[in-house]
Amino acid sequence: MSVNEFEIIRRYFTRPAAIDSGVVLGVGDDAAIVRIGGDQELVIAADVVNEGIHFPVNTSAQAVGHKALAVNLSDLAAMGADPAWFTMTISLPQADEQWLGQFASGLFNLADQFGISLIGGDTVRGPLSIAINALGRVPVGAALRRSGAVVGDQIFVSGTLGDAACALQQIHHDPDNVDPALRQRLDFPTPRVELGRRLRGMANACIDISDGLAADLSHILDASRVGAVLHIDRIPVSAEAASADARASLILAMTGGDDYELCFTVPPVYAETINQVSKEAGVSLTCVGEIVAEPGLIMVDSDNQRVSLGHLGHDHFAQGI
Ligand code: ADP
Ligand code: MG
Repeated sequence: MSVNEFEIIRRYFTRPAAIDSGVVLGVGDDAAIVRIGGDQELVIAADVVNEGIHFPVNTSAQAVGHKALAVNLSDLAAMGADPAWFTMTISLPQADEQWLGQFASGLFNLADQFGISLIGGDTVRGPLSIAINALGRVPVGAALRRSGAVVGDQIFVSGTLGDAACALQQIHHDPDNVDPALRQRLDFPTPRVELGRRLRGMANACIDISDGLAADLSHILDASRVGAVLHIDRIPVSAEAASADARASLILAMTGGDDYELCFTVPPVYAETINQVSKEAGVSLTCVGEIVAEPGLIMVDSDNQRVSLGHLGHDHFAQGI
């Protein structure tokens, strides 16, 4: 029987931290937190993107540069961290200077937007692959985690879900006929860094949605030892995704990957404040459900009838990749 991504991490790479090693939070969240002295903690995220797996072959070099950093910034956003530095290890099949120039422009446009500096890395020959470590800062104790959701919390998601997965479907179906707005969402995801920062002190739990809402919300539920009721009719789907295929778009929103939106829970007392946060962070926020005591994820339709979506999210090893 093949073992899935999360089992591999749990079985082989989850170890107790050395005593007094300064580890505040180790394996199991969107990023690690370590003590560095003073009034800030260091937040460290690591994500790799491989050609043909995390981005389609023939993706523009600019998009590859953007996405390699964006997925890491998204993990910092999920922790409520301020981005500061990153290292990059790049494996290249050949030294194509035109490609490299465009890659660098995509990478540094995004880096400059968030004030994050490239401080080192490694460059090797091999299949196209970019591994980034992104480092950020939070005030001591202020980082958002997956584990703090409380019964009664409202569950919010940012932006719209399923656009990138919808683009990917269109690429597989007919690469010359992909909706440009959906393709933009796949190639140039927007890390919700400002939103994450503004949720400090407000959200009880937070995660970024990289493997589909169902799977990623389930990570919050498992870490927090709670359950959730999710109203699928409230799930925000873009007009472009809905017009491509309204029924499929909902399933893609629940189970597709690559959204890089945030899913977070807040006590109901913040219902009003959330509108303000949405304005300040420049992204729509939609309440899609609530945290309940009974473990597990229950999905209901507009008539409050339970629905099931068959399978959950995207798991890199589930299909034997
Ligand atoms: P995300 O999708 O937010 O990047 P992942 O699902 O990739 O998170 O990883 C879940 C957790 O497991 C994270 O805390 C991550 O740092 C950790 N992790 C993943 N792979 C490894 C590994 N090879 N060694 C140690 N920790 C790992
Ligand atoms: Mg994440």
